[in-house]
Formats: sequence, C-alpha cells, structure tokens
Amino acid sequence: NDNGDAEAAETLIMGTNAEFAPFEFINDDNEYDGFDVDMAKMIADELGMELEIDNMAFDGLISAVLSERVDMAVAAMTITEERQEEVNFSDPYINAGQVIVVLEDNDEIQSVEDLQEDKSVAVQLGTTGDIEASRIVDDSNIVRLQQINAAFMELETGRVDAVIVDNPVAQRYINTMGSLKMVGEPLTEEYYGIAVNKDNTELLEQINQALANIKEDGRFDELIVKWFAD
Ligand code: GLN
Repeated sequence: NDNGDAEAAETLIMGTNAEFAPFEFINDDNEYDGFDVDMAKMIADELGMELEIDNMAFDGLISAVLSERVDMAVAAMTITEERQEEVNFSDPYINAGQVIVVLEDNDEIQSVEDLQEDKSVAVQLGTTGDIEASRIVDDSNIVRLQQINAAFMELETGRVDAVIVDNPVAQRYINTMGSLKMVGEPLTEEYYGIAVNKDNTELLEQINQALANIKEDGRFDELIVKWFAD
C-alpha cells in the first residue's frame, strides 16, 4: 500500500458458523456480516491483526479450536461447563437464552409443558437448543439439523411443531419470516463467550483486554444498537 509497509499484519483466524443471523451470516454482497463479525474485526484491530474467517459447521468449532485450525471461535457460543472442559472462554459479551418458537396460528403450544405432549422440535445440532430440547422431549421427537435455517424450514412446512433456539435469533426470524411467534418463558439464561485454545492464554488475555477497550469507548454499545435496535 501507499505506506509501503514491509510486513503484512498477522492474521487472527476466527472460526464461525455463518448462518446464525444477526450474529454471523453471509450478506447479499456475499460477505461475512453480523454482530460477531463486527466485534471480531474490532478485536483484531485492537490487536493490530488482520481478521480471517473460517466458516464451518457449529458442531465442528470446538475441535477447530483444539486443533489450532482457528485461533478463536466467535459464533454466538454459549459458555457452558461442558465446553469449558475443552476450551477457555473470554469474558461474556451477550446475554441470551433459549426460547420456543411456533407457528403464529398454533394455539396448542403455549408453554414448555405443552411440548411434552408428544410434540416435535427442530434444533441446530450440538447447540444449547439441542441440549434443552433433549431435556424436554423424547429423542424420537427431535429433529437435529446442521443449520438453524433448516430447522425453521421444518417449522414453516409443518414437519415439526416447534424450534428451540437463542432468543435474539428467534426474534430475527420472527421479524423477517413472519407467521411465527415465541411462546412461554425463556428456558435458560446464557452468556456468549469467545472460545480460545487452553494453551493460548496470551491470546485470551488480549481478547479480554480488547473487549474491555471496545466496551469502554462505546464501540460495543454502537454494535448493540446497530444489530439489535429493532
Ligand atoms: N448459543 C448456542 C450455543 O452455543 C447456539 C450457537 C449457534 O448455533 N451458533 O449452542
């Protein structure tokens, strides 16, 4: 470039599953977009690094962190005790919980108890929605899919009675698809964190520092407004 930089910035590789709007998705210009993508760019910026994105199935992200194929997973990933056995998480950055979504004209399902009346649920494989569904209904009544979009397709076409998914994502589908609604109370309270290899405590500290910086100077709040204003 014009500055004649001899050294290219080091890359920071983010693993994600870019089909989880508004957190990560591929936009109409065929670019990665979303809250997590913006946040990760800011973090990379703080670290003086170049962000690179490696898109994969959600249930492959932890192994990608373990094998060091990626430096971090930023994927609306809930901090759970089970995952903490394998990876470290940054400080929490979003509070979200699992909710039940049904078709708007469904009067039968109004709560989690109604789901237990032999109702079927679609979820994204390996997510906390999957874990919640497994707690509530029989395994034979769960449809597990690689993409949350496919889970919503099952609901739209009437092949399942409900979807269990993160609250902000449910809200997004309700706003964009219509003919859907949330029912009952949120099933969980969950916090998202950035997953980092346990051997890379230096990066974890850098990420936490970067997060603190963008929270302090207001950039984090701007992102919240940008992605969750409605
Ligand atoms: N927050 C949920 C989880 O961590 C879902 C994440 C996702 O599907 N990207 O399991």
